[in-house]
Amino acid sequence: MRPAESPAGKVVAVDPGHNGGNAAHPSEINRTVDIGNGRKACDTAGAETAEGYSEAAYNLDVALRLRRLLEGMGATVVMTRTTNTGVGPCINKRAQIGNRAHADAAISIHADGGPSSGRGFHVFYPAALHGLTDDIAAPSRRLALDIRAAYQRGTHMPRADYIGHEGQRSDLGGLNLSDVPKVFIEAGNMANATDAAHLERPGFRQQAARAIAAGITRYLTS
Ligand code: ZN
Repeated sequence: MRPAESPAGKVVAVDPGHNGGNAAHPSEINRTVDIGNGRKACDTAGAETAEGYSEAAYNLDVALRLRRLLEGMGATVVMTRTTNTGVGPCINKRAQIGNRAHADAAISIHADGGPSSGRGFHVFYPAALHGLTDDIAAPSRRLALDIRAAYQRGTHMPRADYIGHEGQRSDLGGLNLSDVPKVFIEAGNMANATDAAHLERPGFRQQAARAIAAGITRYLTS
């Protein structure tokens, strides 16, 4: 990698969605929090594959691999959680962590629980909500396009074929409350047997982390 394509000196916030203890603590994760344009549950339990591999575990594993790669290139990485045994943090707190770190880029890592017939990944970025995300919408879109291109190139995952639209969302607290460029990736569909077989493989998760690191680096250096 040429020096010009290094994220050295930049700060990246990495948010592995959900947490392994969420399902066992419904009262804590179901309480609502302010998401800027309404209220929403603090968090949810997340998806899982038919084999019982949880989304929370997938998200954290890819996030830790991503942290290792980015730190190896000289970036500073701020995580919203580093274990899979706790509860939360709530989505508003997750956004706050990236904001307080003044992150140059932030990403929430998820895997979807879509229709079992549907395959693929998709990347969301915040809508331009007045007084909320209008200042980060454009750079977040660039970050999303860089990560989408890198993920498609670096993994065997196709673009999602089961969603009506891809792109802006205004109903995700983790995006609405961000003051730094931020995106949300649904890295595959856990409910689809073909996608699940990929997501369950450590080798795939390393490819996914490498691809996301490449997308973030592209964004930070162009
Ligand atoms: Zn999720």
